[in-house]
Amino acid sequence: MTVHPTPILIFRYATGDAGVDDATVWAVEAHLESCAPCRARLADAVEPADRQLLDRVAVGVATGIAAGPAPAKHRWLLRRTGVAARILPWLATVVGLMVIAALFELTFDAMPSLVLLIAPVAPLLPVAAAWSRRTDPAWELVASMPRTGLALLLRRTLAVLTAVVPTLAAASWWTGHSPVRWLLPCLAFTAGALALGGLVGVDRAALGLSVVWSLGVIAPSLAGRRLPVILEAGSWPGWAVATGVLIAVVLIRATDHRRPGIDQR
Ligand SMILES: [Zn+2]
Repeated sequence: MTVHPTPILIFRYATGDAGVDDATVWAVEAHLESCAPCRARLADAVEPADRQLLDRVAVGVATGIAAGPAPAKHRWLLRRTGVAARILPWLATVVGLMVIAALFELTFDAMPSLVLLIAPVAPLLPVAAAWSRRTDPAWELVASMPRTGLALLLRRTLAVLTAVVPTLAAASWWTGHSPVRWLLPCLAFTAGALALGGLVGVDRAALGLSVVWSLGVIAPSLAGRRLPVILEAGSWPGWAVATGVLIAVVLIRATDHRRPGIDQR
């Protein structure tokens, strides 16, 4: 929201009017963060009884902070409960899996490339772990932040890709595959998980896509001892188009990701 919200909207926001939709509430909150005049208008719009309650709470919090212990110098607790700590086991699993895939491929050269077969779904479980409220002890805090939603999801996804893509690059370099054969499928599936995640939850979407790919492509390819056509070198234009379309869907349907833990609906 680049213009100031109207006094009527601020009043409806202050009184918790159920007719104000989530997107508008989000925009008002984002605006209030940076606009002191509107914050003052909001303070005036609050009922006197509510204002007294807020004043009492503010005094109580200030007293508690003044009387409490000094802030901890080390932020180990934040690190322990942070996203990085939660996705680390999954990233380690991906690294282990790609090492095994590369060794398998180098050992059994008659088999189709396990590195190429696994690459599309490699980032999915870390992405699910980064966005599932089941694994996030701080999800209530995150859900209450005005700027949660797609931006946060994309930041976490980017963090996962930053770790997973070099792993895939190393495995493909080791086994001699061109990046175009694994990077685009990897990005397409990640975008697909986010797009589908808007409907069913990112963790369910990631798990579902992993299972479908494993049963529908990896298992038959290993059984038939040949790489599917969609992973052949010439299929990259199809993956590029799919990636572009899925990213567009994610951006167009941005409001689907307004809250983490959508999977709990
Ligand atoms: Zn304003």
